[in-house]
Amino acid sequence: MDKNELVNELARRRGFLWPAFELYGGAAGFYDYGPLGAPLKRRIEDIWRQYFVISEGFAEIEAPTIGVEGIYQASGHLSGFSDPLTSCKECKEIYRADHLIKHIIEVPDALSNEEIYKCIQDNEIGCPECGGELSEVYEFNLMFKTMIGPGNKMAGYLRPETAQGMFINFPRLLRYFRDSLPFAAVQIGKSFRNEISPRQGVIRLREFTQAEAEIFIDPRDKSHPRFAEIADIKMKFYSQAAQEKGEEEEMTFGEAAQRGVVAHQALAYYVARTYQFLLAVGVAADKLRFRQHKSDEMAHYAADCWDAEVFLDRLGWIEIVGVADRTDYDLVAHAQASRVNLSVFVHYDQPVKRKKLVIKPDYKALGPRFKARAKAVGEALKALSPEELEASRGDKIYLTIEGERIEIDSSLVSFESVEEEIRGEEVVPHVIEPSFGIDRIIYTVLDHSFYQDDVEGEMRSVLRFNPAVAPIEVAVLPLMDRKELSDPARAIVQELRSSGMRVDYDASGSIGRRYRRNDEIGTPFDITVDYEIREHGTVTIRDRDSMKQIKVSRRQIADKLSALLAGRIKFEDAGEPVALGKKE
Ligand code: AMP
Repeated sequence: MDKNELVNELARRRGFLWPAFELYGGAAGFYDYGPLGAPLKRRIEDIWRQYFVISEGFAEIEAPTIGVEGIYQASGHLSGFSDPLTSCKECKEIYRADHLIKHIIEVPDALSNEEIYKCIQDNEIGCPECGGELSEVYEFNLMFKTMIGPGNKMAGYLRPETAQGMFINFPRLLRYFRDSLPFAAVQIGKSFRNEISPRQGVIRLREFTQAEAEIFIDPRDKSHPRFAEIADIKMKFYSQAAQEKGEEEEMTFGEAAQRGVVAHQALAYYVARTYQFLLAVGVAADKLRFRQHKSDEMAHYAADCWDAEVFLDRLGWIEIVGVADRTDYDLVAHAQASRVNLSVFVHYDQPVKRKKLVIKPDYKALGPRFKARAKAVGEALKALSPEELEASRGDKIYLTIEGERIEIDSSLVSFESVEEEIRGEEVVPHVIEPSFGIDRIIYTVLDHSFYQDDVEGEMRSVLRFNPAVAPIEVAVLPLMDRKELSDPARAIVQELRSSGMRVDYDASGSIGRRYRRNDEIGTPFDITVDYEIREHGTVTIRDRDSMKQIKVSRRQIADKLSALLAGRIKFEDAGEPVALGKKE
């Protein structure tokens, strides 16, 4: 078995990830999180909240997973969220047409369906299964469609991303944040994509979890007030230029923003926060890089986009997060479709003074000519914009009054230049969007923390989980399943659980087997309860990675463990070392 198989087998056997609906034959692209997978996921999501909700002051919301058609018409998902397909005329197998020509054209995304089909024909590409002739290329929309209510009257779609929930709540969010920029809202939740050929476990699912932040900023200022906090962090940037050379370039975020490697400070700041979060949950730094989208890969509206990519055994480099400056694309699209103004009035620090041309209607001249309508004409003249005024100076002025077009000689009005004070302007915010695939991150954490070592001739499998994500933090193991040991062991379990720790109790099998079982699921610490508890009031704590043991007083166990789990003390300093004479 290679590492990929070992990790998948472990994840299934120990209750991290189970293929869904197994009892009824299963369906590709759906997974269950088992008793260890679900808490691992929850803890990773909670660390995400720590970074992207609590630390930043962003608002977490929860929108429905079903959306009405108008949303996806405006967002472009109805017309554009599709993949090109072709099917075999003989065996009826269906394929992603662009994947079949990847070895001929590097970026097939840029081709139309007709061009892909022509490429298939010109290169005489047949069905990979049976060699049969392939059909014309057609679009397959990846959204799951459903009907809302009885009578098939109203179409609904399972959301293909969580982002739209934040966009369509923009006016309410703006009010919540007291009408001022910047502000941001996030969602952690399920998204649905009817992927054509879901494979590779939880890397490509039909129902998956996303954590997305939509950060609305003033387009005139793309700096970030907390940039100094991350400016000195060094990271490998795989920029467009670096990709030309085929080698990542290491530099600080300060340098990356200053040299324009990343478009601006605000984007660089959120790339840095993404980097810190991924390391905190256990993604290995040496298997992580940030790759900039190439210009032909980037959405046409995006100003810049960086993907966090991780190296996974067998699968190679895989995107797990995308961080993009989406400019004003989404808000403009929703403003047009909904006819609701989605701009923000931003106040200048200092009001600016500006000269403005205004019209002074000459009512003495207008009155005899327009009689009862003279007042309306005067008002319409005053309402002309500075540009219209400038254009009509010394010429004719055209107005529409009560549906009638009228012409006024500019000699009937006089122009005056006045100074006005401008306090601010309307802007449509730009959006920075970090978009995380939680399932892919979980698989990465499993892959990057898995290792095997040889312990006295026996292979030991370990998940080197950071204690902050471990689904079980402490295992309490009575040396033997006898009442005089199991009673105090159970009392320890209860005490630790009451102080909020995730604790498991395991009395079955040899102590060595129990250590291995816990190493394999990433339990950072094991407490062994033996007869020393009766004689000296002590127990031992075993460290998963070093397999070293220390002796600790029974009374101090909760304090010591919480300090160890939080990383406040080193293992060696937490108790008296135990010499391990015998085999574990
Ligand atoms: P996207 O909107 O396609 O940029 O996706 C955002 C993130 O969601 C990606 O970086 C992935 O981590 C994750 N993702 C996208 N599609 C899937 C899928 N089918 N299964 C699991 N995760 C996905």
